[in-house]
Amino acid sequence: MRKVIGITSSQQTVNDPLEFTLPKLYVRAIENVGGLPLILPIIDKDVALIAEMVERVDGILLTGGVDVDPMLFGEEPHTEMGRIDPERDFFELHLAKIALEKNLPILGICRGCQVLNVAAGGTIVQDIPSFYGKDKVHKHKQTAPRWYPTHSVEIVKGSKLEAIFKTNKITVNSYHHQSVKEPAPGFIVSAKAKDGIIEAIEGIEYKYALGIQWHPELMWQKYPQFKNLFQSFIDAC
Ligand code: MN
Repeated sequence: MRKVIGITSSQQTVNDPLEFTLPKLYVRAIENVGGLPLILPIIDKDVALIAEMVERVDGILLTGGVDVDPMLFGEEPHTEMGRIDPERDFFELHLAKIALEKNLPILGICRGCQVLNVAAGGTIVQDIPSFYGKDKVHKHKQTAPRWYPTHSVEIVKGSKLEAIFKTNKITVNSYHHQSVKEPAPGFIVSAKAKDGIIEAIEGIEYKYALGIQWHPELMWQKYPQFKNLFQSFIDAC
């Protein structure tokens, strides 16, 4: 039996959203490693329904998207904060919290890494250049092709991420202006860029709770080592 992976979707954040959307490569990546991908619609205001959703899947993939509302981790909005989606925040934070309580495997990509961290009680840097200083950090919003790795990442020795990649240094693509500030209780930093920006976190008390800041779903077709990441997720499920 294939493992069922619930993949979160997004919606427009202007006007009244009429559609849920999801970049196809998230689905293809899960399909490619033998998972059964199911796209999860955003459910607003119904925690019981979200909990039932968690019951029906074997793992959850939290996908990329807009910023998390800083009020949800105890901060006022910075001027460089991007768009937010209160309905998606409600849905994904409940989804992640319920899944963590059940120790269900979770893979968080980009926004998904941030959602995972906030759900578990951590905080987020609202805008990397403003927080650390424009000249102190690398370009984390690349203009190179989407699949192309533009900065290096150092993986922490002894981490789950090291076991997945079997190396301490990889290069990744980068499409974020936010990053993990304080990892949530029970989580460790498992990778950083050379400028100190946190690029991955993992839960040490969970079967599989991994958040990464880059976009492996855009890279695995050209760089097979990124398939290992999705494979490790399916294996944990
Ligand atoms: Mn980056």
